[in-house]
Amino acid sequence: MNPSAQSEASPSVSSELRDATVRLAAAGSASPRLDAELLMAEALGVERVRVYVNANHALVDAALAHFRALVKRRASGEPVAYIIGHREFWSLDFVVTPAVLTPRPETELLVETALKLMASKASRRILDLGTGSGAIAVALAKEIAGAEIVATDIFRAALEIARANARQHGVDHRIAFFAGDLFAPVAAMTGCFDLIVSNPPYIRRADIAALPRDVRDYEPRIALDGGADGLDFYRRIATEAPDYLSAGGFVAVEIGAGMGAEVAQLFAEAGFADVRLEKDLAGLERVVSARRTARG
Ligand code: GLN
Repeated sequence: MNPSAQSEASPSVSSELRDATVRLAAAGSASPRLDAELLMAEALGVERVRVYVNANHALVDAALAHFRALVKRRASGEPVAYIIGHREFWSLDFVVTPAVLTPRPETELLVETALKLMASKASRRILDLGTGSGAIAVALAKEIAGAEIVATDIFRAALEIARANARQHGVDHRIAFFAGDLFAPVAAMTGCFDLIVSNPPYIRRADIAALPRDVRDYEPRIALDGGADGLDFYRRIATEAPDYLSAGGFVAVEIGAGMGAEVAQLFAEAGFADVRLEKDLAGLERVVSARRTARG
């Protein structure tokens, strides 16, 4: 601690938040105020809403030092979710580590789409490919009574996090987690699923270098790299999903910016019907869904 700071009045929570917001904005954060509030909540050991309640309080030295250290990490690019070890998605709190992509708000559209597709189905067997933190699988398990979910991921360290999240939300008895590449762990489960969901890696390899540094330098490359044109995983999913779906079963995938037409075409070419594009809150095509036609 800087000894000259001892003689100054301790800054208030709100003045530290203001300073940190300016600093984080200058460092390139897209959400500097939110970041500062989440880091303040962490430094104070309280929920984010309590930060407002404490806004006029002076920060004790230990909390101030802790907060400034967290802001410094964020200013050098580390995502807030990795610094504080958790992230909200679908109004649920998820444990995250650098082994998993941090759940994004736009991915909630995939959950919404999946819920609509499943609403008319009596049977609720769901496969989540590349589950990562487990955010999609856990949200679906919470929302769909009686859903039985299989979640796969090639990265074992990610599955550990997904399992912890399923336990934390009391749905671990309804999600089976398997390590392996896409469909490999469910090879024996042909025709078993009423819905297949995935937020696969979809960044074009050449675009990875231009990603924001908090994504590029901190998030798992294996969860981002979609191959030369970003479509590698959609090709595999479109080709292989029909084998694993029940007749009339659905597939729903998150897509990257500008990929709507190409991904829709991949599913149409693979014999899917009712291929639909859903737009996210920013107006971008973000989810493609399709229905497996009954095979003769
Ligand atoms: N939406 C993520 C990003 O833009 C990428 C997620 C993915 O590849 N599935 O950083």
